Formats: sequence, structure tokens, C-alpha cells
Amino acid sequence: MQNQQDTNSGIHMDPANVDISHVQRESEAFLRAAQGIPEEVLQREQPSIEESIKSNLNQRSSFNLGPKYLEALTQLDSINNTKAISIQLPMSLRKVEITSITGAEEQALKSVSVSPDSFLKKVNELLYNHTNFEDGSKPTFNEFLGEVYPPDKATMLWGLLNASYVVLPELERECTSCGQKYIIQSVPNDLVHEDTFKNVWDQSVSPSEYTIRQETFGGLIKFDFGIPTEKDRLLITSMLNPESLKNNISKEGSILSTLDVLTFFTKRIIVGDPGEETILTDLFQDIIPFLRNLSPKVADGIRSGIDLTVFDAYMPKFYTEKPCAHCGDMQKVEVDIELVYFRKSLAI
Ligand SMILES: [Zn+2]
Repeated sequence: MQNQQDTNSGIHMDPANVDISHVQRESEAFLRAAQGIPEEVLQREQPSIEESIKSNLNQRSSFNLGPKYLEALTQLDSINNTKAISIQLPMSLRKVEITSITGAEEQALKSVSVSPDSFLKKVNELLYNHTNFEDGSKPTFNEFLGEVYPPDKATMLWGLLNASYVVLPELERECTSCGQKYIIQSVPNDLVHEDTFKNVWDQSVSPSEYTIRQETFGGLIKFDFGIPTEKDRLLITSMLNPESLKNNISKEGSILSTLDVLTFFTKRIIVGDPGEETILTDLFQDIIPFLRNLSPKVADGIRSGIDLTVFDAYMPKFYTEKPCAHCGDMQKVEVDIELVYFRKSLAI
């Protein structure tokens, strides 16, 4: 990217270094539609359902369980092999059934994690192949990508984890009460609480038509922000080179930089006084260079003038609530499925 001369101050600065971290914080939860399945999740280290139940049966042998239970056990095991999770997607409001992934697919995912965007594509294919719409319709892969909003993707990925895995990888966290590190062991359902899927789409227009307008510089520059789909995300990701994506991960802990975040939500940029407004651009291809080449001063003005938190309302909130192993204090730990269970693969 070209650096931009700040015409007002004459200071030569790289707009990529402009701090718009609050924009990032406000919208990153929304952005984290997951990227893939990490190695650690892929390793089925957990006991099989059969082993767990057998062990349970042994412990409860005084109940004199007979062959009937072994029969039931066989059935359970077979159900487990084709487990399906039914959920409603918070944005499209469609009911879907997510089926478990196979061992071969796990292997394919492991071998494809060469670059972030190819990994993204593979995970999207996986989601597509394992999602059945309960009304019987099946969109094409392209249509599917154009309909998947971040909250829906996060929900589907949770469904995929739930359908495919019994136990999630351990997480190490520092207790906010005693300061010691402890291990959190969870099953997928531990991440879901009463308020996890609290909000579903309730606007009068569809998510694709919904935009909010925000003004900066006293109304001279207006942004129409909308809800990005997976298709938008792929487009942006493919326009950034793999090195900058990796750089974003190491520098900002996220696949997209703060400027990319802004780009992701921007549907239209309008300039000019009221009554004499001109649409500067409404194409991603133009929005990316426009935002990347802003002078620091303008970037800063935009940063302070916009608020993307409105989009977070529909994002499912996954978290665990478990006591610290040392002091027993109940700890609520927010779990971003993408970051916690998927990021590792991206950082390769
Ligand atoms: Zn503690």
C-alpha cells in the first residue's frame, strides 16, 4: 500500500499505523465468523460416547443393567456417528440441521491450512456440505455464501463443533480473583446459556437491505454501513495478500486489520454537503484502496465518528461459567469460537 502525504501537516505517515483500535474492539465480535477447525479440536482425544457410557454403566453396576442397555448403547453409538444438531440461525431465521464431520474431512482440513483464504474456503465448503435447511431447499454454494452473516456462521460453527465433538480442547485462563492459572474443560453445550442466542433479526428489512448511516466531519463524509456476508469476507480476504493477513494476526490478534474491519462493514461512501451529495463509491474494490490511503487525520476523524456496536446485538455470546480450581471463585469466560478454537490454524 502507498503511504499518504498528510496535506495539512506535511507529516508523512503510514495510514496502516493509525490507531483505530476501538473500531476493532467494537466490531470484532461481529467479525469473527470462524475460519476453520484447529488441530487441537481435530484431534479426537476425548473418549467415545461408547466408552463414556460403558464406564458409567460399570460405575452403576449395582443397578443390575442387562443386555437391554447394551442394545441401547449400540444404538446410541450409531446415532453418534451421524449426529445432527438442529438450530435456528439468528439472522436468516432459517432452521438448519448441522451434521457431524467425518475423519476424512478432518484430514482434508489439516492439509489445506496453507493460507488463510484457502482455509476459509475449505471451512465454508464444510459448513455448506453439513448444513441441511429444514424447509428442504438447498441453495448453491455461491448463494449460501451470500446469505451467511457472521452471527449465522458462528452459530453454524458451534453446531458443527457440537455435532462432531464430545469434549472441547482445554483452555488455560488466569483467574480474575486469585490470579492463578487454571484449566477450563468444556463440552460444547457448556458454552451456551440463556442469553447466548438472545437476539434474532427483528428489523423490518432483510439483513441484506439493512444499513445504518453515520456521518463524520460535520456530515461531509457519510458512511452507509451494512452487514457483511461470508461472500464479502472472502472478497476482502482474497484482495489482501497472505503476508498481511498473517501480519494482522500477529500484530492485532485478528485476521483483519482495523482498516479492513471498517472496509468490511462499509457499503457506500458519500461525500458532499447535504443536497449536493455524491456517492464516492459503493464497490468493495474501490472502498479498500480508499480507506487504506486516507490521511491519518481523516482516518482519525472517521474513527471518532462511527460506532459499529449496533451490529453486535445479533452475535451469539458463547461463554463458560466454571469455578477457579484454586480459589473456587465462579469465573465467566467469554469464548470466541473463532479465536479460541480456530485461530491456531490460521496462524500457521
Ligand atoms: Zn482463583
